Amino acid sequence: MARFIFVTGGVVSALGKGIASASLGALLQARGYTVLLRKLEPYINVDPGTMSPFQHGEVFVTDDGAETDLDLGHYERFTGVTTTRFDAVSTGGIYSDVIAKERRGDYLGATVQVIPHITDAIKSAILKNTKDVDFTICEIGGTVGDIEGLPFLEAIRQLRNDLGHRNSLFVHLTLVPYISTAGELKTKPTQHSVKELQSKGIQPDILLCRSDRSIGMEERRKLALFCNIKPECVIEALDVSTTYQVPISYHEQGLDREVCRHFGLESKTAPDLKIWERIAETLTRPEGDVTIGIIGKYVELLDAYKSLHQALIHGGIANKVHVNFEWIDASSLEEGGKASLIERLMPLHGILVPGGFGERGTKGKIAAIQFAREHKIPFFGICLGMQLAVIEALRNIGNFKDANSTEFGATSLPAVALMREWIKGEVVQKYFPGADLGGTMRLGAYECTLNQDSKSYESYQNTVIFERHRHRYEVNTTYLEELEKCGFYIVGKTTDGLLPEIAERKDHPWFVAVQFHPEFKSRPFKPHPLFKSFIEAALNQNRLI
Ligand code: GLN
Repeated sequence: MARFIFVTGGVVSALGKGIASASLGALLQARGYTVLLRKLEPYINVDPGTMSPFQHGEVFVTDDGAETDLDLGHYERFTGVTTTRFDAVSTGGIYSDVIAKERRGDYLGATVQVIPHITDAIKSAILKNTKDVDFTICEIGGTVGDIEGLPFLEAIRQLRNDLGHRNSLFVHLTLVPYISTAGELKTKPTQHSVKELQSKGIQPDILLCRSDRSIGMEERRKLALFCNIKPECVIEALDVSTTYQVPISYHEQGLDREVCRHFGLESKTAPDLKIWERIAETLTRPEGDVTIGIIGKYVELLDAYKSLHQALIHGGIANKVHVNFEWIDASSLEEGGKASLIERLMPLHGILVPGGFGERGTKGKIAAIQFAREHKIPFFGICLGMQLAVIEALRNIGNFKDANSTEFGATSLPAVALMREWIKGEVVQKYFPGADLGGTMRLGAYECTLNQDSKSYESYQNTVIFERHRHRYEVNTTYLEELEKCGFYIVGKTTDGLLPEIAERKDHPWFVAVQFHPEFKSRPFKPHPLFKSFIEAALNQNRLI
């Protein structure tokens, strides 16, 4: 029987609804249930693919090639369940479908309205492919009271009637702030937020209250009374030092117990939280540490590198070490010359150049790649990071000064070039310049075959891998021979043999550059092999200083 849990947020944004939903998913799995997590986004964009990372944070890519919200990354990392394009629903997507239907005449002359046409479309998006899972957890983006969110709230209100009280549950995540001048925790913002929700016809069943200190019995009683909720369903969500402690912390507060009770699924046995305990133990009691420098463009907003950040932490978990992060703005490496590079990059145990778009900062990134290569510092290049490593080798070793990517303008030596046509499965995909920007990249999982004589093979222990992509440009195979003369070898290609996927140096302890985004597939309980191996190399390096 499919059961639905709707998670809304109140008072302020950024309370961690994504982590809360993902943690609840993990707790239900620990009780032996299957889960599916889904994000409903009130914004008008069809997907976040065209949004600036400064605005929206990372674009998380699914295996089936959807560009989605970073919360889907939390869902995958906490539950290990692979998300699909159906798990990210936005106002823009819903409206485009409804308008396309209207143009086709599917509504048979009816006036197309928010209720019932938009709300029906939202309801069918929520219900799609949910029959075989025990629980579907649907997170509603934004904060209760946002104008954009209204059709989504109306849709879930209707769904409670359609599904019945016993098959649906409303969780509301709020903030209970401590006001230092009064020396008290304040419940009023939560009361107002619940009132707002009630005015939309939704009575929350469980209140999840974020707070920086324990919420006393008195405040809980008050919240229960004013918000019309059972006192045991007012659940404290205290700040914890790492997000991977959240499932344990929510369990201790009784979240999964109350959720199961609501659905009539009381079980005597406690959930099995061993994997989370082990992760928390490694994170809180590491056996050493390592410092990784990330040379990026969006370093002021760490959400832009969410999965990458987490994958490096997972690499640390696999090696039982704490990872220190140096987020370095690539442009800042463009001035100051060698002395400044030595000062800033030499203390690092590993250097990573992540994915990115546009020319800004690429000079600094190339300088960092050269530094890592020459000083034998473990180097990991991802997507743009791989493309720039190719350019660096051709320019600085091969002496091809014009080597460049056509992304940055016309060049006589297009070492990285725009891909106009490629094959996915059996189907030829085409890029049409000047067409809509959305969804025009090589997106999603592609099969790659590895050479056995490579670091990558050693890490994966497999010759065939599937990794997710999000890019328009490719390493130009015309120059592969020149590249090999520079000591840089393609050790992984798409299985059809056409596109370079991984390049490595043999004259360096660990210099691996990949065209895909391995960070999307790393999990705390199953760290990605390349991140595990990168952190290991950073720990055991042999430096030439
Ligand atoms: N800008 C590059 C491209 O489109 C790299 C993209 C990325 O790093 N995700 O190919």
